[in-house]
Amino acid sequence: MGKALVARAGEGKSYTVGFEYLPLEAWPAGEVAIRVAHSGLNYKDALAITGRAPIIRSFPMVLGIDLAGEVVESASPRFKVGDKVMVNGWGLSETRWGAYAERVRMPESVVQALPAGFSTEQAMQIGTAGYTAMLCVMALTDHGLQPGRDAVLVTGASGGVGSVAVSLLARAGFHVIAVSGRAEQEGYLRALGAAEVIGREAISAGGRPMAKERWAGVIDVAGGAMLADAIAQTRYDGIVAACGMAGGGALTTTVYPFILRGVTLRGVDSVMVPMARREAAWARLDAELDRDLLARLSVTRDFVDLPQLGLDLLEGRLQGRVAVRL
Ligand code: NDP
Repeated sequence: MGKALVARAGEGKSYTVGFEYLPLEAWPAGEVAIRVAHSGLNYKDALAITGRAPIIRSFPMVLGIDLAGEVVESASPRFKVGDKVMVNGWGLSETRWGAYAERVRMPESVVQALPAGFSTEQAMQIGTAGYTAMLCVMALTDHGLQPGRDAVLVTGASGGVGSVAVSLLARAGFHVIAVSGRAEQEGYLRALGAAEVIGREAISAGGRPMAKERWAGVIDVAGGAMLADAIAQTRYDGIVAACGMAGGGALTTTVYPFILRGVTLRGVDSVMVPMARREAAWARLDAELDRDLLARLSVTRDFVDLPQLGLDLLEGRLQGRVAVRL
């Protein structure tokens, strides 16, 4: 029996979310049973907890997209009892029962070994948000951007993806321009390594699809008008890694930044990334993420706090990453 945060269908499209006790036998088939030690809170978790967007595709659903813990039963040759493992994405909390449960059962195909350099708590302080930040950094470096030479814009910088992106880029030696809608976050962002901290209005291109070149790379979590503005001011042959929609899902631009400046717009998804690229991203996090900065950008809260934390995230009351201890 394990405590779990479960969504159950209500009237029409509505649903209720509450804590329940689920026996392991209630879980869908899977080769690996895990005692979850830590999970985390991501934007998608907040949407699912609060019901503000249709994340959940079937009911009942165990919420939570990230987990780290210890194998307690295994019918897989890849894992044995006692192994430390984690799961990120793969449709958890959407089409597949998720992470907010003391005991879970998962197909072996979604389970990966915890990187040796991280505790379960640290892995969940990073979580999907931090691993997505690394996928974005990899998109930039694969494109040829160079530390010491190139400036990179990070939007939503004080959020989960943004905070990890700022930390990784600054430590690698990029000139990081952090955009935040909260002026009070300047000290925090400079402590993570941002060279410049600017307000959201400061990246406006005045509605033009192309404006003065200001940065070689972008990691964008905002979408909407901010993404269009970021593209408009990206340098010749630069790259924009788009991973979010915190400011909206629409994108209004023209072809000109792409055909006149050779700008690349690179979409970044974390949910269905093949295992080999996940392992590469986590290995780079293990090698490159400053542990003191990770501690600085994270807090760890209790399982019971999750319903309130979901609201707090969407209302802009949190900064950086939130891990959850089960
Ligand atoms: P957080 O809530 O932690 O961070 C989002 C940040 O965006 C906020 O802290 C805020 O930063 C900024 N923001 C909020 N509202 C707006 C707005 N209206 N316009 C511009 N900026 C805004 O969320 P996460 O970091 O966990 O996720 C960020 C985004 O990335 C989400 O859209 C999420 O869905 C997406 N995402 C996508 C993934 C993928 O696989 N593609 C994986 C993980 C996340 P500030 O106050 O500093 O401006």
